Amino acid sequence: RIVIPKEAENGIEIHNLAQSINQALDRIEYGYKQQQQFISNASHELRTPLTVISGYINLLDRWGKEDPKVLDESIQAIQSETEYMRQLIERLLFFARSTTGTLEAHFMVIDASELLEEVYNGVLLIAEEREILLGRNDKASIYAEPGSVKQMLRIFIDNAIKYTPSGGYIYLSCEADEKQVCFKVQDTGIGIPKKDLERVFERFYRVDSSRTKETGGSGLGLSIAKYIAKGNNARLELTSELHKGTTVTAIFPRHYETKKDTDK
Ligand code: ADP
Repeated sequence: RIVIPKEAENGIEIHNLAQSINQALDRIEYGYKQQQQFISNASHELRTPLTVISGYINLLDRWGKEDPKVLDESIQAIQSETEYMRQLIERLLFFARSTTGTLEAHFMVIDASELLEEVYNGVLLIAEEREILLGRNDKASIYAEPGSVKQMLRIFIDNAIKYTPSGGYIYLSCEADEKQVCFKVQDTGIGIPKKDLERVFERFYRVDSSRTKETGGSGLGLSIAKYIAKGNNARLELTSELHKGTTVTAIFPRHYETKKDTDK
């Protein structure tokens, strides 16, 4: 803390300087606390699958050699926990690596409908017993970083799959008007309670850890999506009705091609 010396109290400039230094210190302290919180959450998240894996290794060691059922079950569990850990580490690294402004360096004009179609083709196989349908897909352009926009849509779709019981539907669409282009991922899943709607974008926040436990969520997906949206000048909207379904919309400013773009 910077304390203004008694004799300088009337010196307005020193006062202002001290105030700005204090504000900067507050920001640093806040950032540091956030980082500590992140590290402790991340370690906690990584410890959970590790405990499961070592549990199954013990089981294998004791019974797995004689009992093929235990052997199969343990191998399967270890494989799925390892995969979960791999995804979690990837997501954690995304935060660790990303600094603001990195996305902007790779901005380009993107055909929104082509991008959505690519994403749609990429997820058809992972839907299992839920149906993924491509609805309205308007032709329009956005100016953004394509890899991250795809990653963001994948996060929405992965969630839609995770939180929609088999037999449900997932609708993808892209609607454009004069000003904006909206990507929508809509599902007929379990929905999100009203009280949690705001909080689901926080890092590591899950609506109900017990219900997300089976689905293997980390609580990081939507916070990454929010970060990506911001980096691409888009904003997110989330509407949901419990037991009916959820709609996530990413709204981008519409980009109009100029002569300079087409010359590129
Ligand atoms: P997770 O890895 O747990 O899915 P997210 O950050 O992606 O983490 O989402 C946070 C929480 O929001 C989830 O745990 C889940 O409870 C809720 N959620 C997100 N998307 C949906 C959806 N499409 N339907 C129902 N709940 C959802």
